[in-house]
Amino acid sequence: MNQLIHGKRLTEWLRMYPLLEKMISTEEVFWLNPNYTKFTNMVEKLPFDEGDMLEAEQRLKRFAPFIATVFPETKNLKGIIESPLIGIENMQEELAAMFKQSIQGKLLLKCDSHLPIAGSIKARGGIYEVLKHAEELALEHGLVSIEDDYSVFASDKFRTFFSQYSITVGSTGNLGLSIGIISAKLGFRVNVHMSADARQWKKELLRSNGVNVIEHNSDYSYAVEMGRKEAEKDPNNYFIDDENSPHLFMGYAVAAFRLKKQLEEKKIVVDKDHPLFVYLPCGVGGAPGGIAFGLKLLFQDDVHCFFAEPTHSPCMLLGMMTRLHDRVSVQDFGIDNKTEADGLAVGRPSKFVGKTMEKLVSGIYTINDHYLFILLKRMKDVEGISLEPSALAGVYGPAQLVAEGKPYMERHGLTMKNATHICWATGGSLVPKEEMEAYYQKAVNF
Ligand SMILES: *Cc1c(COP(=O)(O)O)cnc(C)c1O
Repeated sequence: MNQLIHGKRLTEWLRMYPLLEKMISTEEVFWLNPNYTKFTNMVEKLPFDEGDMLEAEQRLKRFAPFIATVFPETKNLKGIIESPLIGIENMQEELAAMFKQSIQGKLLLKCDSHLPIAGSIKARGGIYEVLKHAEELALEHGLVSIEDDYSVFASDKFRTFFSQYSITVGSTGNLGLSIGIISAKLGFRVNVHMSADARQWKKELLRSNGVNVIEHNSDYSYAVEMGRKEAEKDPNNYFIDDENSPHLFMGYAVAAFRLKKQLEEKKIVVDKDHPLFVYLPCGVGGAPGGIAFGLKLLFQDDVHCFFAEPTHSPCMLLGMMTRLHDRVSVQDFGIDNKTEADGLAVGRPSKFVGKTMEKLVSGIYTINDHYLFILLKRMKDVEGISLEPSALAGVYGPAQLVAEGKPYMERHGLTMKNATHICWATGGSLVPKEEMEAYYQKAVNF
């Protein structure tokens, strides 16, 4: 490569960021964020506060009667879309054995794989933004006031009203699934632009829900671009912008309140002597960014958030490290963005998330697809939990932190003994049986 990449020769890039060499050869890396900042030194500069998160949480509460009506599987939780937090001691032993390490502290799995309705982390942001849009339209047209019982949103009158409007989104699969399902329930016309990574069953499931699926033979960034272009043509077509949306971000951030409560219920303390480590699989950045943001607001310097990306799609790492954010893509450096982790197959990161999180995220590590499948099989074998490949990126975190994170632990005076590790399992429960079996068999053959 002799041509210039963003104005510099490759040799110059490598001198500035030696880690790039491994990234370009798609080897695993563990990056500690040099711009990580003490929370109290930056809290005033943040774009959102706890009040914004509360507003989002209250909106979701207003819609709970509607959700409980149209999605009976949420009746138990009274229409609140939330997932279990569970201990995975067997997997903890398994990880320790696999990587020949001692993994101290408590290992928990946040099972967004089993979130109702969409079976992935996208049930947080995606559903939230559609509800917010629906509420705005309904308020604007005098159909409801915010004190009303929102189960009226399930009525024919509302469905007919919303059928004058459309919603458009670009996705590698799961965001389309979440937005498609909720929008169709409300009566919106929905267009989902899918990248080539999107699995066939996700497209079919959407079509069976009456969603217009547009397939593109190119990557995520292009699918988003096409969605954006389509929506621009029609003022009644609302585009959900996975690359820049503060509403998606807030929908994700609400997870922090819920998690805090779950930790309290389990009597798990989080403070200086009991650090909380959270490992979040990262695609364009919205979901892990929003959740990590919410957690930082609530737990400040006692929570340490790490993002996980596939070795072939390390877009957030590249964007944050070079601080070029969305101006750089992994393809610019000859990295192919080809991974079986379809939820993470993103070559260009969100600038909004990159900038918001650039001082809050502790670090980013990458994982080989190979390990995603090995962990997928082990998780099924020892815990009986089936996850989609993307979700396993988070499960690698504790082992990586033990192996590579000593400088971080020392710098912040942390010990592992009283730590809590949360691996964020981002998807899986909607994966059809045969697909899941094929994933499992892949690892059997390794
Ligand atoms: C979308 C997704 C992610 C990552 O979320 P981003 O907002 O794209 O960073 C992680 N895991 C799964 C299963 C996903 O669908």
